[in-house]
Amino acid sequence: MDTRESILHNFESVRLALLLGLALGAGCSAQPRMALRNTPDSPPTAASARPVNLREPTAARTVAVTLDDLGATEESSAPEISTRILRALAAENAPVAVFVNCRALEPATLRLWQQAGATFGNHTATHLDLDAAGADDVWWRDVESCDARLRRELHERVSFFRYPYLRYGKTVEARAAAARRLADLGYTIAHVTAATSEWLLADYYRQALESDAPALAGELAAAYVEHMADTLEAAHDWAIQKAGRDIRQITLAHVNRLAADHLGDVLAALRARGWQFVSLKQALADPVYSLPDVYTGSCGCSWLARIAPALTRDDTYVFGEYEARIRQRFEQRVQALPKP
Ligand SMILES: [Zn+2]
Repeated sequence: MDTRESILHNFESVRLALLLGLALGAGCSAQPRMALRNTPDSPPTAASARPVNLREPTAARTVAVTLDDLGATEESSAPEISTRILRALAAENAPVAVFVNCRALEPATLRLWQQAGATFGNHTATHLDLDAAGADDVWWRDVESCDARLRRELHERVSFFRYPYLRYGKTVEARAAAARRLADLGYTIAHVTAATSEWLLADYYRQALESDAPALAGELAAAYVEHMADTLEAAHDWAIQKAGRDIRQITLAHVNRLAADHLGDVLAALRARGWQFVSLKQALADPVYSLPDVYTGSCGCSWLARIAPALTRDDTYVFGEYEARIRQRFEQRVQALPKP
């Protein structure tokens, strides 16, 4: 059994257990600790007091799949990675929006996504953090240079923008200034609701493959599927608590080897949970994304954390919580891998 077969074998074993758990609704989703509030303007009603199974799949469960960091690294710019991701999306008939860092972007790779009918977004040329970039125009030049390159190479208008690290500006003034200038460039902000930290699993997965550790790689792949399903379920529950209803969700993964190998498994697991795939444009048409952004700070968190009631210290449902859990589970074993 070569490395890849061995990974697949390990992954298949864990996946079977996982899918069984999903099918049984066996509580394999880790529940984020969320602050439940009864605000004065929303007293408990007879309807809300009735026990409701929020995990029951319904026809209303819709999600837009978005992938970030195309072109951020050599790996994410490799045509082979994109080809396999696009194949997985096509197999599930899932529309996709891809967010581009123009830095290491291969024109041939960009064309693969265009031929597949992907929606494009600007993610800055060098993945620059708005909060760290300071008050000068460095960040804007990064936005504008990627904008110019995308227009030149795609011959189409790119109308979505995603903030690197999901940092929207750490003060009210910085946030408003960025939003205004992006709107002037014709951009709509592509929010994210599911608090995924799969980039960390992808980093561990790459290291496991490089160190020829197929058992660990298989576990990481299964954890990826579980994580993508869990974070979406948590976003679904939180939307019902915060917005009072189901919303069109937006999930986030990245262009990397883990996605090339296993995004198809993620999409199949989501489909099995009753999720239907919609385009980013369809998702953003949900009025929840037109609510005011009342969060101020650098959390890099879900859109659900940014709408009222504002994020508080009690809200641990942000990206860091999942990230900490992934580190706790895998960090030591990854550190102990023999260096290739
Ligand atoms: Zn990014």
